[in-house]
Amino acid sequence: VDALPPLGGAPAGTPAPGVTTATTAPDDDARIRAVDPAAPHVTVLDLGVTRGDGIFESFGVVEGAVQALEPHLVRLARSATLLDLPALDLDVLRTAVLRSVELHEPLPELLCKLVVTRGVEGATDAHGRPAVTAWVYTDPGADFRRERTEGVDVVTLDRGYRHDVAQTSPWLLQGAKTLSYAVNKAVYREAARRGAQDVVLVSSDGFVLEGPTSTLVARYGDRVVTPATDQGILAGTTQAAAFAWFAAQGLTTAEVQLTVERLREADGLWLLSSGRQSVPIRSLDGTSVPVDDTTTAGLLTHLLGRRS
Ligand code: PLP
Repeated sequence: VDALPPLGGAPAGTPAPGVTTATTAPDDDARIRAVDPAAPHVTVLDLGVTRGDGIFESFGVVEGAVQALEPHLVRLARSATLLDLPALDLDVLRTAVLRSVELHEPLPELLCKLVVTRGVEGATDAHGRPAVTAWVYTDPGADFRRERTEGVDVVTLDRGYRHDVAQTSPWLLQGAKTLSYAVNKAVYREAARRGAQDVVLVSSDGFVLEGPTSTLVARYGDRVVTPATDQGILAGTTQAAAFAWFAAQGLTTAEVQLTVERLREADGLWLLSSGRQSVPIRSLDGTSVPVDDTTTAGLLTHLLGRRS
């Protein structure tokens, strides 16, 4: 995908990145190429490959509909800003996502991944601008059906940063969805060594953050909370959709600071993300926690039912 705005910048009157109503210019398609995913396309000199220097988004696709398309694009633009990447053309990226999904054989659920890297060091595009590399691919993703109903055992692990790391040290890029997920994956291997399937990361000063690839949501009676995103964590698109559903059920919702001790007192805990949708937590650090089956079923039905 040619992910930079067309030569001359965005047309006058075009809103800033993150716009939710933009239409796709007819010639956008010329900037997108469908290629054989089995053939090589990325050079070994690409900074996304050599340094993990780039950003990505994973879109859930249910019955052919890309879920939370605009919130994902907004978050991609925010990640690009945090990494000082060039401003991206979200219209062409949106079109590329939709084309990629269209090109896949229809399945009940798919996962679509959009990647943008800093490109090859020193390389510029035809107009002399730093050239990013961008691609989109769609595949069936992992099968989460069992976890969605049976739940997961979770351990808490120290992320090693204070909860205010995004304010004190923005160069650590906490809160950006960067390609550097080697640590996030190492966290899962540590969970497996401890006999668990998933993790809740905790700040070095004792606040609950997020999963390595998910947002944590906790219910206390008729109040549902999630860790506030100013603690160097991602704003979850699935969590946002879940909170809209919880509010429609008459529950109150809030972004909070949560200690591990308080986490253990919850009436229900879930990990949310685009691919898995929602998964209940059934144990925390080896101790069973209540599983709220009714809310689990209602939430999952709502999240899977999203068609935009
Ligand atoms: N937090 C992290 C670190 C993630 O990687 C993800 C998704 O991959 C999430 C939260 C959940 O975000 P979303 O619900 O938008 O998929």
